[in-house]
Amino acid sequence: MGLTLYNKKRNFEETTEPTGKVKKSVSKLVFVVQRHKASQLHYDFRLELDGVLKSWAVPKGPSMNPKDKRLAMMVEDHPYDYKDFKGTIPEGNYGAGIVEIWDSGTYSDIENSVKEVAEKNLRAGLKSGDLKFRLFGKKLKGEFVLVKLKNKADNSWLLIKHRDELAVDEEYNSEEYTNGDSPINKWLAENDKTSKK
Ligand code: MN
Repeated sequence: MGLTLYNKKRNFEETTEPTGKVKKSVSKLVFVVQRHKASQLHYDFRLELDGVLKSWAVPKGPSMNPKDKRLAMMVEDHPYDYKDFKGTIPEGNYGAGIVEIWDSGTYSDIENSVKEVAEKNLRAGLKSGDLKFRLFGKKLKGEFVLVKLKNKADNSWLLIKHRDELAVDEEYNSEEYTNGDSPINKWLAENDKTSKK
């Protein structure tokens, strides 16, 4: 996909988001989940692959409960440096609102292979619409899958936790795991109580 679309959608004279450059982790692949208060509050799930962040918008946020199938709309690739981005995207810009980092860490294929092998497996999974991976985050841990929905719009996937020793059975609401100093929570408390669920 590359970063052309990412760059095209943004005015870097206004937004502090990083410009699109391909870059890679030295040892382990990384992932990030950003919580994003734009017109709708949602989560952005990003996996490093081939020097960019493959990205999905997850309206309800990820879950550690295998019963949850969370809709994940694939969006444009984001640059590697976006993994560290948090802050405010100014009014009138694409994705205007607040971005905070909800979770981050390293990730691999299911077998936790060395990077080169993992990338090969992940590339194949992405292509076949059955992308299995293992997260080493602070909140998200263990095996997950992103499954592409057939017969749906091209970019619809489901993000599902695999049943493993790290999965939970109780109801999982990612909104209950936001950081105490969350600028989005502060904004919601001050501005718009109705959109906080
Ligand atoms: Mn977003």
